[in-house]
Amino acid sequence: MTGTDLLQRLASGDRRALARAITLVESGRADHRAEAEALLDALPPKPDTLRIGLSGTPGVGKSTFIETFGLMLTGLGHKVAVLAVDPSSSRSGGSILGDKTRMERLARDPNAYIRPSPAQTQLGGVARRTREAMVLCEAAGFDIVLVETVGVGQSETEVAWMTDLFLLLLAPAGGDELQGVKRGIMEIADLVLVNKADGDLAAQATRTCADYAGALRLLRRRPQDPDGFPKAMTVSALESTGVAEAWEQIRTLSGWRREAGILEGRRAEQARHWFEEEVRRALLSRLDREPAKGLMRQLAERVGAGDLSPAGAASDLLDALLGNRPG
Ligand code: GDP
Repeated sequence: MTGTDLLQRLASGDRRALARAITLVESGRADHRAEAEALLDALPPKPDTLRIGLSGTPGVGKSTFIETFGLMLTGLGHKVAVLAVDPSSSRSGGSILGDKTRMERLARDPNAYIRPSPAQTQLGGVARRTREAMVLCEAAGFDIVLVETVGVGQSETEVAWMTDLFLLLLAPAGGDELQGVKRGIMEIADLVLVNKADGDLAAQATRTCADYAGALRLLRRRPQDPDGFPKAMTVSALESTGVAEAWEQIRTLSGWRREAGILEGRRAEQARHWFEEEVRRALLSRLDREPAKGLMRQLAERVGAGDLSPAGAASDLLDALLGNRPG
């Protein structure tokens, strides 16, 4: 398949072309990387899609929620892609979304596409590949992309850097126990969903929701958002209650941000962020390869021998690498 073929088939919504394109962006091979970059560069922008980040600890009900939510969205005529950022994943297992039995019904839905987290190969690599896979899904006609994370390391921040809004799924807490929710994630959450608000857990979920609503009020509201956001709500992914209401809130917030130009501005800022990340990553990987690696070894020896200062040697190395001296 040539690049143009792949692009055309992708644009026509061909799922096999999508799978192949995602395999290209996930590949570590240099020729695949070049093909992937050519493809990504040729894709038209898709400003009307909605990118939703979702985080929650294992067991909180993420896959149950995504299945219920995803089926509701496809029922409304949307095409939904589900991707994951899981830095703890590896080919040997343990990956979220790796288990084929998760989201069985959604996986069979012709208007849904589910892709497990790529394996961790290098620092920040998982998020980069997921972001590129997201763009490919949009090119293939998926208008809503859900990006799931378990919140290992920096993964929530990385997901927030690639999505339009962010959902945090929590379980009903016993008593007034805090769920060890990192402050950082409360700050990026637009909607806190207290799941399992059913049966014996319903009352506890309502109390937990009130606690989080209070905690959210203490955080500074983003001045550009409508009143009442960020917001806490109860849902039951299992019984499908509150899910339509959560979608209503997502639509309100995203609609507002879109009209105010905030979504567009945020995506532009995100694109600049990823560009800078790519530059950093490329520089770091050049340091790991010849000739930089050998030069670094030589300079290190001279620094060790007291021949050169660490800072002077670093400048020499960077000059050699970037090929110029300032001024
Ligand atoms: P994940 O690890 O976050 O993806 O969580 P899962 O979706 O696999 O759910 C973990 C467990 O919680 C499963 O046994 C689910 O059946 C259960 N669960 C998920 N959502 C709900 C809910 O809304 N209510 C109740 N009672 N249980 C739920």
